[in-house]
Amino acid sequence: MVSEANNADERPQVIIIGAGFGGVWAAKTLVRLPVRVTMLDKNNYHTFLPLLYQVAAAEIEPEQIGYPVRGILRRMPNVTFTLAEVTAVDLAAQTVTTNHATLAYDYLIVATGSVTQFFGTPGAAAHAFSLKTMEEGVRLRNHILTCFERAVHATPDERRRLLTFVVVGGGPTGVEYAGALSELVHGPLRKDFPELDIAEVSIVLLEAAGRVLGGMSESLSAYAAQSLHKMKVEVRLEQRVTAVSGTAVTLHDDSEIPTSTVVWVAGVGGEALAKESGIEVLGNGRVPVQPTLQLPQHERVFAIGDLAAFPAEGGGWLPMVAQVAIQQGIHAAQNIGRHQLAQPLTPFVYWDKGTMATIGRNKAVVNWHGRSFTGFLAWLIWSVVHIMYLIGFRNRIMVMLSWGWRYFTFEQMVRLIMPSTRAGWLAIAPQDAFKRDAYEESAD
Ligand SMILES: Cc1cc2nc3c(=O)[nH]c(=O)nc-3n(C[C@H](O)[C@H](O)[C@H](O)COP(=O)(O)OP(=O)(O)OC[C@H]3O[C@@H](n4cnc5c(N)ncnc54)[C@H](O)[C@@H]3O)c2cc1C
Repeated sequence: MVSEANNADERPQVIIIGAGFGGVWAAKTLVRLPVRVTMLDKNNYHTFLPLLYQVAAAEIEPEQIGYPVRGILRRMPNVTFTLAEVTAVDLAAQTVTTNHATLAYDYLIVATGSVTQFFGTPGAAAHAFSLKTMEEGVRLRNHILTCFERAVHATPDERRRLLTFVVVGGGPTGVEYAGALSELVHGPLRKDFPELDIAEVSIVLLEAAGRVLGGMSESLSAYAAQSLHKMKVEVRLEQRVTAVSGTAVTLHDDSEIPTSTVVWVAGVGGEALAKESGIEVLGNGRVPVQPTLQLPQHERVFAIGDLAAFPAEGGGWLPMVAQVAIQQGIHAAQNIGRHQLAQPLTPFVYWDKGTMATIGRNKAVVNWHGRSFTGFLAWLIWSVVHIMYLIGFRNRIMVMLSWGWRYFTFEQMVRLIMPSTRAGWLAIAPQDAFKRDAYEESAD
């Protein structure tokens, strides 16, 4: 049965799927229009994904990068929230089906973001750790800490495997996570585990291309690689992963790196809902949109953010970054306003505010309108920008406190393995039997 929110209310019904960057900024813009808005998300919180790697490196608490959606919408009288997973969109019937109900819409904004892509690499989906959700961040943190605990009692071969951490993908997330992991290992874990020889720890960053941070200039790539090298991260370029198992990662030349930890940050594609609903998508699951962000032939449906494939100046597609999602969310909402007034819709124009990545303490790279910054200044810019876009005053304060504490004490505060049932077991393999079996086999 199709639910009508309020039949007496004649304002058009807008449904936003996804309370990520795109969805939230669309809602903030729609609050000024004569529409009713229903926001749907499968989580009751917004996740600030750019700092997720810090959760996975035990630097900050998950709560510090999540914010309740209802809290965000509190001062938006025409916007309501429903915690629900959308399972289908019917463009012909103008309905959205969730695990609770089917809802009718006058306008739809699809902002479901992206998912990890494993490119069909055997074993990767089952054995590699990905880093796209809060649960995955916590799971990876637990796993890293558990590896150290288990290494204390392990045989030499097993210890080396447990203490080898392989990050696949030298984009911003891979670089940031490898750097953060190095600081965790060579800072607090070195002091926490006097039983272990920290020189046995190996952090390997594998990149298929000839340089890390391929989207930035060559000089910034070189700076990032040198910085990682100084932080004892082994950067291996032109390395293609051909298989992942619970105990090793295999490379294109058939060589193997024995490891219990493969962090896969090598690829992302559009979230599956659009494709599963029969919406036309590209090979990577992203939805090609019109310049106005509408779907072709569906003037009342907009796709934005990571999900949308929008042509970039000079070829290719706009990158999957928060600024694209934010600006598209605002623009799609404004175009809904224009459509209501029967005005012509305007094309989306992306204002590139620059790209940046942090590598570690006082080390970052920033590319801003053709100008490059590295070192402390870049790190300061990176820190300020991330604090500015973090939602929630408390979160900003708590993250700044965590960073300040870590900066001056060289200590990470969050080193708890939680939740845990049997030490090490849940942390290694919570999401599927494959990892758990592999772990138990390897532990035998
Ligand atoms: C680890 C990591 C680090 C990053 N670092 C940076 C960075 O430093 N700078 C930067 O600019 N960008 C960064 N990004 C990219 C940035 O986070 C994304 O580009 C941005 O989040 C995209 O916004 P979005 O609104 O399209 O999707 P998201 O923010 O991913 O939001 C999608 C929302 O849709 C919900 N959803 C999905 N499917 C359904 C469904 N079927 N039903 C209901 N709800 C659903 C999800 O729960 C989620 O809340 C990073 C991403 C990751 C994963």
